[in-house]
Amino acid sequence: MGALENKVAIVTGASAGIGRATARLFAKEGATVVVAARRESELGVLVDAIQEEGGQALAVAGDVGDEHFARKLVDETLARFGQLDVAFNNAGILGAMGPVPEMSLAEWDQVITTNLTSAFLAAKYQLPAMGSAGGGSLIFTSTFVGYSAGMPGMAAYAASKAGLIGLTQVLACEYGPHNIRVNALLPGGTDTAAAREFANTPEALAFVANLHAMKRTAKPEEIAQSALYLASDASSFTTGSALLVDGGVSINRV
Ligand code: NAP
Repeated sequence: MGALENKVAIVTGASAGIGRATARLFAKEGATVVVAARRESELGVLVDAIQEEGGQALAVAGDVGDEHFARKLVDETLARFGQLDVAFNNAGILGAMGPVPEMSLAEWDQVITTNLTSAFLAAKYQLPAMGSAGGGSLIFTSTFVGYSAGMPGMAAYAASKAGLIGLTQVLACEYGPHNIRVNALLPGGTDTAAAREFANTPEALAFVANLHAMKRTAKPEEIAQSALYLASDASSFTTGSALLVDGGVSINRV
């Protein structure tokens, strides 16, 4: 019996990287998954792969920073599957990099909207749906950047991701009595398309790997295992946490 048998889970940012690996793992563990991102064709490929493995999945394409989409995602989940138990709100972007004086307000706003306002919108519609299922697990993908490490040039990203931790703590307090757990997952460097945008030469990849105590970055599948932990009853007494899954990048000093 899988860890998410009879559960319905939303996974955003599922067209690539950590989200795609997590959607596949959740489905393997018995969840019905509703996968979201902007690229419909990539979601279609994922749904086919999950169904070929005997799982159940539905794609809902759209922009997580758009309130209509946040509502539609929950509405379609409930209309099709009747309940919502888990939401892994993972879609995110690195966005504009560089010194703050050189960053435009539009660049700042894009990162805050995609990474942080999206979480507010997700919570706004997902929490009532989970409440009517008798409880659930809400998860946001944050990062060590802006939590345990300052990284030059990443002001908007760090601010948006640190904001998720504050949101997590407040929601955990508000919804603990309703049996809804709320946690932030803080991956270290993970080998995905987004990470390769940041480090796109062998030297840069080696530099990033070396920042970690383990001298390597994660595979998306390793981060997915931690999302599964937070989604499942294995973490039944964990709420309000900022769970570092970072290969020791936060404590490494060499
Ligand atoms: P990725 O491979 O680039 O995937 C990002 C996902 O987010 C894609 O599915 C993308 O889909 C989706 N997305 C981006 N903007 C969106 C929007 N406005 N609306 C809907 N979906 C959107 O990145 P990743 O590395 O897997 O990152 C996943 C999460 O982990 C992010 O929140 C990231 O900040 C966080 N994280 C990553 C690392 C790392 O080293 N990789 C480390 C710490 C934290 P579409 O393009 O199809 O919309």
